[in-house]
Amino acid sequence: MSEILIMGNMPDKDLGILKAEFIVHRAIEISNFEKFLVEQGDKISAVATTGFVGVHNNIIEKLENLEIISSNGVGYDSIDATFCADRGIIVTHTPDVLNAEVANTTIMLFLNSFREFSFNEAYLKSGRWKLEGMAPYSRSPDNRIVGMLGMGRIGQEIASRLSMFNPKILYHSRSPKDVPYTYYKDLKTMARDCEVLICITPGGIKTNKLVNEEILTALGPTGTLINIARGSVVDQTALIKTLEDGRLGYAALDVFESEPNVPDELIHMSNVTLLPHVGSATFETRAAMGELTLNNLIEFKRNGKVLTPVPECLNLKKI
Ligand code: NAP
Repeated sequence: MSEILIMGNMPDKDLGILKAEFIVHRAIEISNFEKFLVEQGDKISAVATTGFVGVHNNIIEKLENLEIISSNGVGYDSIDATFCADRGIIVTHTPDVLNAEVANTTIMLFLNSFREFSFNEAYLKSGRWKLEGMAPYSRSPDNRIVGMLGMGRIGQEIASRLSMFNPKILYHSRSPKDVPYTYYKDLKTMARDCEVLICITPGGIKTNKLVNEEILTALGPTGTLINIARGSVVDQTALIKTLEDGRLGYAALDVFESEPNVPDELIHMSNVTLLPHVGSATFETRAAMGELTLNNLIEFKRNGKVLTPVPECLNLKKI
């Protein structure tokens, strides 16, 4: 029977399904992980992990007979997929099943940023309505110019769900897509031309701090930055600086540079909406992601195929 190493947490139901197929080792239950890798690493042919936890190259190197890493989440910047592909290890992820949920979360960030519902609820609950009268007006989300940094699976779903607010949609990515929106080759020009910049690219080296001080300044004093991608995509220090000195108007963030650490400066700003990386975090969507994570492993074990390999592994002979 094949042996699998599980990194991070996994729901009991999913664990039960894996136990029927594999001999399961859970990293969180192994008291001396280094010793385990040395003594039993060669028995492990599969790893199950998550986009948050990933698996480090140092560990992969010690799993001599590793064939597959199945990661729960569409973003896999915590796994060096090129390193894996070079060693013939297939990496899979969970695209598409979370598009709708992440798009919903983005719409909520967009709405909260414009209509300030968090502020308004606190205004009511703290008794200010009774004491001070009606809450101040907020900005309308309608008819905005929205620039999308990234127009992939989730980006397209966000753009589609935004349509009820009658936006003009612009987008930037490395190549144009077959979508009815205006393509910008240059991110800074798009930032200057839009009122809201929504980040929905992968994380990792290629997008690291793509949204820097120059881009944030171009977005401007009435501009809104929404980051639902990865904390690494935005220069967080520059974000704080431009919000503090008024060069940027508003921000709505689901992701941060060093999670779960969120700088106090951001926490105390009234023009900022903050969520603890819950883009896809509903029971329904997480169940679908868990199912796809397991199905990749089971399909590979039974038939040598996987359902959703990452692009870096598409050319591996095995799949
Ligand atoms: P996708 O279909 O691969 O789309 C990625 C988009 O980003 C594409 O339009 C791509 O176009 C663009 N892109 C990639 N590298 C770029 C670069 N260097 N410069 C400009 N554009 C670039 O991925 P997806 O399924 O939409 O997911 C996107 C990301 O969302 C994930 O990787 C993950 O990090 C994040 N995410 C976050 C949450 C959350 O909970 N907050 C949940 C799910 C996903 P080109 O290749 O043409 O550049």
